[in-house]
Formats: sequence, structure tokens, C-alpha cells
Amino acid sequence: MADSEMKRGLAQVMYRFGPKSLFDYGRRGLSMKVSRWETDKVSSLDANYVAEQIATHASSFRNDDEDPWVDLTVEDVDFRRPNRVVGSLYPLTMYCQNRSCHRVVSKKEPSHFVYTNGECPECGGELRQLAFVLVHDCGNMMSINPQPCSNPDHGYDHIYLNKQNINDPLSWYFYCGECGDFCGNMSKRCTKCHKERVYFRPIASNSVYYSQGDVLVNLPIDQRYSDDIEYGESWARILMAAHLGDLDDVVEEGGKTYEELGRMTTDERDAKRREKQIEDLKEKVGAEQVEKMIESGVDLGDVFDVAEDTIKGSTRGEVVEENRERVELPSQRGGDSDVDQAYSTLSHELFTYLRSTQGYEGNLDATDGMERQPTPLSLDGLLEQEDFLESNPEAEVYPEKLQKVNIASAWVVDNLPLLNYTFGFTRDRPERSRTDLQPFPHPRGEDSTPVYVDQTPSEAIVLQVDRSAIIEWLDGKGSLRGVERPDTDDESDLKEWFLENVDTNELRDHYSPIEDDLTREVYTLLHSMSHALMRTASGQCGLDSNSISEYVMPSIPAIFLYASSTEHFSLGGMHTLFKTRIHPWVDETIADVQQCVYDPVCEHEDGACHACLHMSEVACESANGNLDRRYLVGDDRGRIPAFWEAEYV
Ligand SMILES: [Zn+2]
Ligand SMILES: [Zn+2]
Ligand SMILES: [Zn+2]
Ligand SMILES: [Zn+2]
Repeated sequence: MADSEMKRGLAQVMYRFGPKSLFDYGRRGLSMKVSRWETDKVSSLDANYVAEQIATHASSFRNDDEDPWVDLTVEDVDFRRPNRVVGSLYPLTMYCQNRSCHRVVSKKEPSHFVYTNGECPECGGELRQLAFVLVHDCGNMMSINPQPCSNPDHGYDHIYLNKQNINDPLSWYFYCGECGDFCGNMSKRCTKCHKERVYFRPIASNSVYYSQGDVLVNLPIDQRYSDDIEYGESWARILMAAHLGDLDDVVEEGGKTYEELGRMTTDERDAKRREKQIEDLKEKVGAEQVEKMIESGVDLGDVFDVAEDTIKGSTRGEVVEENRERVELPSQRGGDSDVDQAYSTLSHELFTYLRSTQGYEGNLDATDGMERQPTPLSLDGLLEQEDFLESNPEAEVYPEKLQKVNIASAWVVDNLPLLNYTFGFTRDRPERSRTDLQPFPHPRGEDSTPVYVDQTPSEAIVLQVDRSAIIEWLDGKGSLRGVERPDTDDESDLKEWFLENVDTNELRDHYSPIEDDLTREVYTLLHSMSHALMRTASGQCGLDSNSISEYVMPSIPAIFLYASSTEHFSLGGMHTLFKTRIHPWVDETIADVQQCVYDPVCEHEDGACHACLHMSEVACESANGNLDRRYLVGDDRGRIPAFWEAEYV
């Protein structure tokens, strides 16, 4: 528990005390700036996916076309875990508290204040920091300091603060006590971009620092193989094949893990390595020189000393080829959308879903550093435990209850690896499009962009939604015209239908509308379900409603509800809900969603508002977009069929 508390603390540190943020320190009300973090390198995470998420985030800031954000890839990022915050005094202007004095002492380095002993050199009164800073939307933060007196004999030696109108800092200014010369006020031109005059902000103001980051579910990839996995299409197809059940013999009988299946053959790996070595060499000695060497027949193998270690043959090629014949993703058909992104998003969804519901398929004892693998318990597995049913007889009705809201299978998952990450900060304004995203300085002065991460185990309830029920509902709504219906009695055919009809690229940026009709309808249905269930879950499990987050997986289709609190942590809430509260949870959810206090307005306009389906920003993965209660309960004009059974009462 101590460790878990410590980790909670770290998540808070990441948001509030990021490099270059300000914080109050100690009883004397001193303000400090975080000058840097001491960190450790982190390697066991799904780095490709996180880097892609960061690139997506970065693209909404004003300076998205600048370094290091433009074309950011996993190669440019250095993942690190903070273990110590180092701060120093900031801002560096102090003035005497004695009202008849107000003598100003401004220094270049925090250590220079040591010699003042905190006392005014004039009257011995107490020095206090000027509690304002200047921040600009370009990311710059400046201390408010006086300029020297124009008389060189006076310089900085006799500066005072005039704060005659004490409640209006805008009127405050510095002056020379010897000759009365004006020595600056509470604003100055930005020293970084030189564009604008910047005005003071109280150091406690929110706008001084906005941490930029996110939380996501991020399963570790087996480090023994991660460098050899061919990500992209090949990895996505292996996971699709596993999801469709096509790999059952290889995985279950052959004892192979997905990582082992995803590895490149020796030839491919050598070719890749060779390619990279040639690129490196070109950078060192020039492209022309290298071309000449290749033309003249120099054996580059000798030059580079290509490693000859071998990887045992795998079935990857066949699996990928077979799956390619079987599944065609919407983005493969759809012209200009990016297929690689679809592979990446789908890989993340499938990998998370497979391991969270089936557990690690390999031998855990034989692996090192895999302690962060999720451990699932299925509802079926729970109901098979005799002593559980004896003490919780009502649990017998759980499957039937869940079927009322079209949930086909459910799991409670322990040790779900959550990743908090922060990739930079902004100042001055909250809007992304009007601010420049600032990278953190690298803690070791390296070229790469540091991204700070904190991995914490959490717990989740995973709900797999009844696939054939969705198909029937879509059909009833008239949404399947021109789309092939899957065989609703064949689970594998159904799974394939969702892979082939939900376009994950449409869901990448949760702030733009979903253009594809089927994708929007499936997502809105699942997202509305997710919110309806989240809103009632907190009351049943004792977690604050902002402490539960969602991860909607429309290509499965499934919903993850996980404990995400960074404030306080109560492990076990999801377990309690899953084991003892499913029946009141489902009943309450169905009852709750029937009406909204703003009906008939809510019902006839958007079908969702803050009173019925909206959640706080931290809990919702898509800013409360694509929600509609009518999808669950139907509408009074009979155009939208109800997905949930209404005659429950
Ligand atoms: Zn002077
Ligand atoms: Zn500026
Ligand atoms: Zn409403
Ligand atoms: Zn949401």
C-alpha cells in the first residue's frame, strides 16, 4: 500500500510540479520554480503507441509545425520516470515589507539572496518576494525586475517600489530613491518572442502553467522481443488473427505469445539493420561517399559487422498473409485516410482487450519484468466458485441482468497498467490553438524530447457488448442498407464485421466529428452506454465519479471502466461493484437513463446534456461528444429503436 500511495503522489507531482512550473514552498510563503526533475529511463511500455498519442495531441497547438513537435516519432522521444523534483527560488525580485521603506532587492541567481539574510539592506525589515510573474502564450515566463537608474552612479543601489495604490498593482512601479528616476513597472516586452508587452499575473494564478498530458491504458510489451517486433500492419494482423480465434492452436498448444509471433525473421531484421547502418554512415561520411563504396563493391557487411544471431523461425508470415485475405479495414478501402494509423490504434485496442480479458498467454514464471500484466476474472469464472455463490446467492442473476443491457461477457481486471504521461506545458491561456506547446528540457541535456511517465496499477471492469444485438439494432434503425450483414450466429463472423466496418481513424481525434455513419452510430451507442453505466457506478462502488474513466473500444466492441483517480486511491471499489452490486447497478442505470429533468427539450434536441449523460472532462475520453440517450431507450417518434429493454420494472 505504501508503494501505491507513493505512486499516487507521483501522478500528482507530474501534473502540478512539472519542470518550469511554480509552487509555494514553506511557511514563509516563498515561491519556487521547478528547475528540473531527476529521472530514470523507462522502457517497458508500448512506446510506439504513446508517441503517436503525443503527436496527435501536439498537432492541436499553435506551434505544431515547429521542432520538436513536427513529425514527432518514437525515435525522438525519451521516456523517463521522475523520482526527485529540484526547485529554486523564483521570482528573483524582493522588496521590503516595511511600508515606509519598500526598498527593492533584485538578483540574478537565487543563491545571491543568501547574503541578504532575508533582511532589507536599508531598514532591516523583512524582504518578501514580489508575488507576480510575467507569462506569455509563447511559453515564456519572466521575473518582474527593475531596470537600473539612468544615472550610472546609482545603478541598482537605491531602487524602491512605489505601490501607492495598493490594490492596483498595474499602477506600481520602481524608482530610484536618490534621484527619482523611473526604473520600470509591472510589465515588459516578451524577451523570447519579442512580440508583445506582457502584464503581470499573481504567481498562484492557473494561467502561469498548464501541464499537458494524459492517462491511458498501456500494457507492457515483452521486452525480450519488443525491439524485434515488426509494428504496423504485421503486428495488427497478428492481434486480429488472435481476436478472431485463428491463432488458438499456435497460442494455446504451441505455447507462443503474441510478441513471439510478431517477431521479424532473421533476414528481415538484418535487412532493416543494414538499412539503418547505411543511413548512419551516410550521415557520418556523406551520402556520396557511401554510394561510391556500394558501387565499387565494398562489402558493407564487413564494415558494419552485422550481427549473426538468429531467431527461431516463426509463423508470422503465414498469419499475416492469411489475415490479409480475411480482413480488409475501412481505411484500406477509403482512399486518403492513413492505414498505418488504423493499424496502430487497432493494435492498441486488441492487445489491451486480449491481455485484459484472457491474461498473459505465455509462461509468466519464465518472464522477467512482466509483473505489470493484468489479471482478469470473468463473470463465468466467478460464478463457478461455489463458496462465492453461497455467500452471494443474488449473483446468479448477474448474467441475466447484464443481458438486459446487452452485455454478453464481463470481467473484473486487477493490475490494469495505467500510464500517466506529460509531454510539455503551456502558459497564459488554456486554448491549445492559441498557445505554443513547450517541451521539457532534457534532464541530461540530450537531444531527444523527454516525456515523463508514471505507471500505476489500477482496476477495471471490462464489458463486452453483445455483437449480434448491435447488428439487430443497426438493422432496425435502417443503418445497414448497402452493408453486408454478418452471420449473427457466428461469433467469429461478427467479430470480423466490427473490424471491417468500424473506422478507428475516425475516432483518433475526439474533437472532430465522425464522418462515417456506421462508425458514428456504433461509437455513439457504446459511448452512451459507457456514460450511463459510469454515472451510476460511483454510487455503487464508493469511488468518486471523477475517479472512474472510460476506454471505449468500438472495433471489439467493448467498454473499459477503470479507476483513474490521482487524488486518492481506493483499490477494491471495482471488485466490490463486480462481485456484489451488479444487480442494483444495472437496474439503477436503466431507470436513470429513461428521463432527463430537461425533457422534452433534451430528448428532442441532442439526447444528452449535463443533467443526464455528461461526465466531467477528466472522466470522458471524448469531451462529451457523440452521446445520445435515445439510442438506449428509443425515441417517441419511433425512428430510433431502443437498444436496452425498457420493460425492466
Ligand atoms: Zn538614480
Ligand atoms: Zn513571448
Ligand atoms: Zn439531458
Ligand atoms: Zn465519454
